[in-house]
Amino acid sequence: MAGVTLHLNEAGWREHLRSVSAAVPGLVPVIKGNGYGFGLARLAAEADRLGVESIAVGLPAEVPQVRDAFRGSIVVLSPYDPTDPLARELTGDPRVISTVSRVGDLDALSAERPTARVLIEVLTSMRRHGIDPFELREAAVGRLGSLQFGGWTIHLPLRVEGRRSEALRLALTAVTARRATPWFSHLDPADLPSIDAELPGTPARLRMGTKLWLGAPTSRRTTATVLDVHPIRRGQRAGYRQRPSPGDGWIVVLAGGTSHGVGMEAPTPATTLRQRAISLASGSLEAAGRALSPYTIDGRKRWFLEPPHMQTSLVFLPAKAQPPAVADEVPVELRLTTATVDRVAAS
Ligand SMILES: *Cc1c(COP(=O)(O)O)cnc(C)c1O
Repeated sequence: MAGVTLHLNEAGWREHLRSVSAAVPGLVPVIKGNGYGFGLARLAAEADRLGVESIAVGLPAEVPQVRDAFRGSIVVLSPYDPTDPLARELTGDPRVISTVSRVGDLDALSAERPTARVLIEVLTSMRRHGIDPFELREAAVGRLGSLQFGGWTIHLPLRVEGRRSEALRLALTAVTARRATPWFSHLDPADLPSIDAELPGTPARLRMGTKLWLGAPTSRRTTATVLDVHPIRRGQRAGYRQRPSPGDGWIVVLAGGTSHGVGMEAPTPATTLRQRAISLASGSLEAAGRALSPYTIDGRKRWFLEPPHMQTSLVFLPAKAQPPAVADEVPVELRLTTATVDRVAAS
């Protein structure tokens, strides 16, 4: 079947997953968004195989997609929104733990579902969501009522400098306000034992997504099917935009387009503007408004003839290269946090 395929060496991947979960006793796998390229249901089933007690999803709407494959508790990471009907309904599910990030929402939840399971989010230097550390005592002592308090959630920035000390400082403030489990995100697992040693009460838990699911790069590769190959001469026009071919060669039509996440790049940091200027000055295809594609054909990444379409892409292959055959599979580099593949082929 033609398409974009994620080939997964399941044994190698599972070996990596097991080694992470063995090294991080309170591991909470994060399963959200596009399921890190694998899909939410597949990751939920893997988390179940690992035997972890809890997983975390991003949004309420993701709970139904993991609930059947995973038997334990499911944390919803996005802040509880008392105006969201699904979020409210989920507070009645004994397996779901809601994250509350504003003091007023604790009151709303207490009124709506007095025995719901909750984590309270502490505002970190991320300044994204959470309750100011000065208000934690008020939240956790004054406003919890009969809610089942599962602990403090502390989401740290990715920057390493100062991260461990911030984790410890906020966790100490939180557990002093009320003794409960800290749930960290983006803490180095190596820092966990020493942090635990300084905290009273239950050991901390660590949520992990990217490093868990995408941490064994050699256990996977992604390919795209060659759908068609046409000869083209320099200056001949092709594609939606009818742009002239930059040379003699072939147009290779490949599976994969914007709906797969092909051509998605991270926002460009300013430092590469210089590189852009250099490539402009050198008169490359990039300067002519072309973009390097993520497809490798005959050993090299090739240039898009025009921006990717919804489900297919047109790539220019110069005459001196060896063209692929229709139905060949060629390597395509995808960022799996933004990609949607047509299938996962496990072997
Ligand atoms: C998405 C998310 C994670 C997982 O992030 P990764 O970088 O994929 O490990 C952890 N914690 C919170 C609060 C998140 O929103």
